[in-house]
Amino acid sequence: MLTIGIDVGGTKVLGVAVDDQRSTTVLAEHRVPTPEGGVGLLDAVADLVAVLGAQVGAPAAIGVGVPGLVDRAGVLHMGPHLRHISNLPLAARLTEHLGLPTVVDNDANCHAVDEALVVTFGTGIGAGIITGGRLLRGANGFAGEPGHMVVEPNGPPCPCGKRGCWERFASGTGLGRLARDAAHGGQLDAVVDLAGGDPEAVRGEHVTAAARAGDADALAVLGDLAHWIALGLANLVNILDPGVVVIGGGLVEAADLFLPEVRSRFDRLVMAGGQRPELPIVAAALGGRAGAIGAGVLAAGGAGAVGDG
Ligand SMILES: [Zn+2]
Repeated sequence: MLTIGIDVGGTKVLGVAVDDQRSTTVLAEHRVPTPEGGVGLLDAVADLVAVLGAQVGAPAAIGVGVPGLVDRAGVLHMGPHLRHISNLPLAARLTEHLGLPTVVDNDANCHAVDEALVVTFGTGIGAGIITGGRLLRGANGFAGEPGHMVVEPNGPPCPCGKRGCWERFASGTGLGRLARDAAHGGQLDAVVDLAGGDPEAVRGEHVTAAARAGDADALAVLGDLAHWIALGLANLVNILDPGVVVIGGGLVEAADLFLPEVRSRFDRLVMAGGQRPELPIVAAALGGRAGAIGAGVLAAGGAGAVGDG
């Protein structure tokens, strides 16, 4: 079945065309900037479906992964990084607008279809938790939001309205914030140069670019990032005891720069780190496309149920 999977991120919306017989082969892909507001999001998804459909033919179904609280009817209740969107019946609107069966789920749950247990580090942090072979959804379908567990009660404010959430420190956005703090403290000259000379313009990608060039200050900030990632993972692993942790999301492109440090810090932070079996912590094999591909696979599996509704 030819389907289109769409991964809505905090900065971009990525669409891929996949065939569920060959689910990891991307037949075509296209991306647009993340718009503001519900109407903008519906238009962006419709545009991606039109562009990809023109390249590969009409799809049988659409799957959409969004970073936020999505219930089982495909209603997006809120997304901390999606401004001016709340209580949007995304699945129903898209099904009506596109004339195609459409399933909508949390973006990290879309990763979990192919990858078992995933924590996604992008603009924010999400998680797909598989337990007993089934996705843990919770009473309302809202389970798996570790990005908003508080790791620093007096920490910086979060778009969710609380303070000191994990994703303020350990996401792509968190990396930029850690780097700006260091830059304002008079460090990170090479990174500030890459950002055009303004410490406030420093983003995560400037840090990873400088680190790849061997800059010691940039590598130190990635060490801080590794600490925060490891701290949150240790908390989650103490609760869930998974068999594998898969790291996904936009930060995975730089995983080689921080994953070894995450590994060693995790072993010190998790309960009984020296005594428990070593837990594999690996980067998602599908890289930054895993969420969109997973959404396409979900669409192939869920099309019948949604179409019947
Ligand atoms: Zn939060």
